[in-house]
Amino acid sequence: MNTLIQNVLVHNEVQDILIEKNIIKKIAKHILEDNCNIVNGTDKLAILPFYNTHTHAAMTLMRGYSDDLHVHQWLEKKIWPFEENISEEDVYIGSKLACLEMIKTGTVYYNDMYWFFHGMARAADEMGLRASICAVLIDMFDSETAKQQREVNETIFREAKKYSDRVQFAIGPHAIYTVSEESLRWCSDFANENNVMINIHLSETHHEVEECMKKHGKRPIEYLKDIGFLGPNVIAAHCIWLDDNEIDILKDYEVILSHNPTSNMKLSSGVFPYEKLHKKNIKMTLGTDGCASNNNLDMLEEMKFASCKAKLDSMNPTLMSAEEIFNMATRNGAEYMKINGGVLEEGKVADIVLIDLNNTMMVPRHNIISNLVYSATSSCIDTTICNGKILMENGNVDGEEEIIALASEAAIKLAEKV
Ligand SMILES: [Zn+2]
Repeated sequence: MNTLIQNVLVHNEVQDILIEKNIIKKIAKHILEDNCNIVNGTDKLAILPFYNTHTHAAMTLMRGYSDDLHVHQWLEKKIWPFEENISEEDVYIGSKLACLEMIKTGTVYYNDMYWFFHGMARAADEMGLRASICAVLIDMFDSETAKQQREVNETIFREAKKYSDRVQFAIGPHAIYTVSEESLRWCSDFANENNVMINIHLSETHHEVEECMKKHGKRPIEYLKDIGFLGPNVIAAHCIWLDDNEIDILKDYEVILSHNPTSNMKLSSGVFPYEKLHKKNIKMTLGTDGCASNNNLDMLEEMKFASCKAKLDSMNPTLMSAEEIFNMATRNGAEYMKINGGVLEEGKVADIVLIDLNNTMMVPRHNIISNLVYSATSSCIDTTICNGKILMENGNVDGEEEIIALASEAAIKLAEKV
């Protein structure tokens, strides 16, 4: 059945939006359409939803489990021991909690990297979201592990075709300090041959750069360039410790960056060189990272942190305007992830969020984008539509109580096993 959103504020005018299957069929005043599902858009604003380009969704189970530590202590003493007992079912349950949170905070797409691909994919598929999902590849420079990991990825790639088109397989070499050159080259070849995206954590800490210099005599991005890894299908998360030459390389190879400001601040990873990247017109998107280092998946909050942090880092309040960060969090994500969206227009996929304009945080309306970036919280998000399907209406998501109960239980059991 078609959906008709009536009397909604879209592109500065009160209009109707007709959705046919998964596509925006028409945006106009007073659309007459029989036999369709009516959504009352009065006092609501239709905007693009968020496209979160770096997550570890199932880490919702670790929310609040370990904070306020140095990154290596955090990983070795807390996160890895917790993950040791995690099962595919836990990943499925944790990912469902993440999906629920994303729907509630207006996100329709996430780019995920974690263990147990099928647990992750099943959650995204059932919850109605779009996702790029990769089974994280770590070989720790052991050739046997590398061989086994590559076989696992080849198998999963074939198996992943059973999920909805919304759920895409991606390849995910974790980072240059956990994956051998041989495997990195393999990932790149595999991605190019099969037309899939590649996710990697890159230049997140100063330590990573120092180690790369010691081992290869060059910086991380120079190293990846020299082994033929970089290209427009690479999404590099963090990218904090960059020199000018590396920024030029990112530009030349059209690498997509996922900026993760909250995680970078919380783990004190360093300062994201936004001003330089912006000047060079580098492809930038926004990501929350996982709930162990954020600790939520709220892109509204992430936009505000990103913008305020960029301003403080450069002591320049004109940097990263509300419009710039809003585009990074919405349009850029859709465009670079090759989703036929990124703009509310006829013929584009029906990915739409409705904002409650009577929420105090949206009043008055001098500048709607400013309200969204600097003022709004997810309490302003009323309805989330992904691929033409209403996933939340008036703040309600089907089955949310059960998802919350199962996730609480799974997290407690995992913590007890540590
Ligand atoms: Zn990450």
